[in-house]
Amino acid sequence: MLPAIVVHGGAWDIPDSELEPHLAGCRRALAVGWEALSSGATALDAVEAAVRVMEDDPAFDAGVGSVLNRDGLVELDAAIMDGTTLRSGAVAAVRGIRNPIALARRVLESEAVLLVGHGAERFADEVGIERCSDEELIVPRERLRWEALRRQTLYRTPDAFQRPPGEVAGQRGLVWGGSDRETMCTPSLHPTIRTHHPGDTVGAVALDRYGNLAAATSTGGVPFKRPGRVGDSPLIGAGLYADTLVGGCSSTGWGESIIKVLLAKTAIDLLSAGYAPADAACAAIERLEQRVNGLGGVILLDPSGRVGFAFNTPRMAYAYRTADGEVVTGV
Ligand code: ASP
Repeated sequence: MLPAIVVHGGAWDIPDSELEPHLAGCRRALAVGWEALSSGATALDAVEAAVRVMEDDPAFDAGVGSVLNRDGLVELDAAIMDGTTLRSGAVAAVRGIRNPIALARRVLESEAVLLVGHGAERFADEVGIERCSDEELIVPRERLRWEALRRQTLYRTPDAFQRPPGEVAGQRGLVWGGSDRETMCTPSLHPTIRTHHPGDTVGAVALDRYGNLAAATSTGGVPFKRPGRVGDSPLIGAGLYADTLVGGCSSTGWGESIIKVLLAKTAIDLLSAGYAPADAACAAIERLEQRVNGLGGVILLDPSGRVGFAFNTPRMAYAYRTADGEVVTGV
């Protein structure tokens, strides 16, 4: 049933003290996206609007509040995909852009698919997207995190992109669910592993009243990343995918592993093979874990408005609303 929308605010061990801001941010983004869909906006407009809300919210690692790279600067990645035309637009390693998802949308409308660094910034000037200073994107929480990481790494090389040592966070294992759940996925029961670094990447998937699906993802990446490092988020098939005939997906988590299994496309292919969204989400995360020892989460929506989500990190903030009016939030 149309319309429907699902958003996420990243998969990691979100501390108790940050739970409420994450859930509130997801709810706000959902409300804005839902409002857009209800007033006849397309899925593409709705996912852009929802992600912009989360980019403006300092609780998340996207836009304002993003993590800093090793040079103490913010480099942003974002992508958006229209499931009806299969057109997409993405920007990577851009600086000084408050809403990279809006820039990605302008790339989608151009002849290009992915613009990086200075080229993307010059494109922003060309299309009239205002630039901002690094300082406008940096919040005190991230400045402190960067200073602590810098002190730690004075004496050793940071290895932020390896799966962290196996510190067990609890017996939760893989968590999955959605608006419908069938029984094709039976995840192996093993403990959840702590992720140690924040991953408040944001994403949205929407289905509009005309039957179009779209997906969007935006991130500051991982803390203390190497300058120029780009993760899965702006890569079609890894950080997101949308095909109006099959489904839409946005991913979050350890980008270096997500890229290896093309997590978003894997989830969409499972939908195509007949899995219900909750089962497809579960099976995709299982593949991420079993094949490359990866950590992360996905949100999924199918053409009939059924939602699925799954994550193997201790928590993932999410919210969704389907045509029956039900708003569901969780971590
Ligand atoms: N996937 C993002 C990246 O690797 C980070 C995240 O989702 O937490 O850049």
